[in-house]
Amino acid sequence: MMTAVHESVLDAIGGTPLFRLARLGAGIAAPIYAKAEFLNIGGSVKDRAALSMVLAAERDGLLKPGGTIVEATSGNTGIGLTIVGRQRGYRVIAGVSDKSAPEKSDILRAYGAEVVLATTAVPAEDPAHLFNVVQRLAEEIPGAWLANQYDNQANPDAHVRTTGPEIWEQTGGRVTHFVAGVGTGGTITGTGGYLKDTSGGTVTVIGADPESSMYGGGDGSPWYVESIGHFLHPGTVEDRWPKAYRADVVDVFERVPDRESLLTARRLAREEGILAGPSSGTAVAAALRVARGLGPDDLVVVLLPDSGRSYLSKVHSDAWMRQWGFLEEGDTLRHLLDGAGPLVAVEADATVGEALEALHGAPGGVAPVVLARAARPFGVSAAEVVGAVSREALAAALADGGAKPGDPLGPLLGPALPTVGVGQSPDEARAVLGEAHGAALVLVDGRGAGVLPRAALAHG
Ligand code: PMP
Repeated sequence: MMTAVHESVLDAIGGTPLFRLARLGAGIAAPIYAKAEFLNIGGSVKDRAALSMVLAAERDGLLKPGGTIVEATSGNTGIGLTIVGRQRGYRVIAGVSDKSAPEKSDILRAYGAEVVLATTAVPAEDPAHLFNVVQRLAEEIPGAWLANQYDNQANPDAHVRTTGPEIWEQTGGRVTHFVAGVGTGGTITGTGGYLKDTSGGTVTVIGADPESSMYGGGDGSPWYVESIGHFLHPGTVEDRWPKAYRADVVDVFERVPDRESLLTARRLAREEGILAGPSSGTAVAAALRVARGLGPDDLVVVLLPDSGRSYLSKVHSDAWMRQWGFLEEGDTLRHLLDGAGPLVAVEADATVGEALEALHGAPGGVAPVVLARAARPFGVSAAEVVGAVSREALAAALADGGAKPGDPLGPLLGPALPTVGVGQSPDEARAVLGEAHGAALVLVDGRGAGVLPRAALAHG
């Protein structure tokens, strides 16, 4: 095997190997090969887009010596832009969501970025939203350039020039199916588009999408796999898809529930020796689904965007998996949950009367209150819960004249219930409740499945 010598780390972007997924693909006629993007110098597929965007900005005169690169990114694009930017002599400012794990900011700082924290928990139009904060920085700092990966054509172009040709060459033109997740859409649009053009249209392109993401037809409600899918904040007025994404390149979407994605990422590590992130789990889960229907002359390539090292405290942690209801082993809350009856959830803009009516069916008498959203076919995500309310509190308020049935629920709303995962033990659930809480919201697959009152968790 030839070992490379590079004069710059920038030369170690792209040129990633394919690995046959022999164990996960056992019993499936079509071979499945994984494109190992975690082997890029910055650890992800986004190194390619970062290099391409910076070089294009220099070429177009948008980025000049002494300039500043600005981007809203908590993760891989930030790392890529920081490595490329610092190597080429620029200042780099990364806008990071205040919900992101602190390690993500730490790694950006380690590479030499300046980190600015802002919220993503408000509608996209809100001036406080991370995207708008970053936009303002780019306007105010002289010589600043906003990379804008979502709408930057140099993002998909990176994959037309590198990822697509690599896969074509590595498979000797035998690739028949290409599977990738869709975040900005750069990877699937560029790579998928190239493979289609070069094969004369015979390559099928499959988008691997979180079940509730809007790309594949979901309602845009939250999910747990990071960095892919299209989310819709309930308060957002106008929504549009990134310009880096071309819907016509994708032939079909496989809509993968969080649990299937996360469990597949864990299998990749244990069975194939590939420690990858959760979006790789989504992609491989989709590739397995597709490959099962194919024959020995087909060849599936699935792209693994990043390493699992950044998610040791999430998908690769048993405790985290149990806490969010993705893993159920041993002494769990399942038997208590099955006895708890269906979950009653109340919309945040309901009236007191409507809430009380809904609560008549609530076994525990307590309901989580969720942000208003028209349709929620996948259940209430823990991220959507804004508070809780009990039947007793509402009845008391009506009885003493503190509220009328037509009044808004808001002023009577209590804090959100603490959450426990169905995979946790009764002891762990009791510890979460402590002295302060009367009930817990039980999560299955990250979504509310029932309310367990303290009494149900009592010893004995
Ligand atoms: N997975 C991970 C881990 C990523 O960081 C990204 C980039 N947002 C993607 C998937 C999606 O790639 P793209 O933006 O090219 O659609």
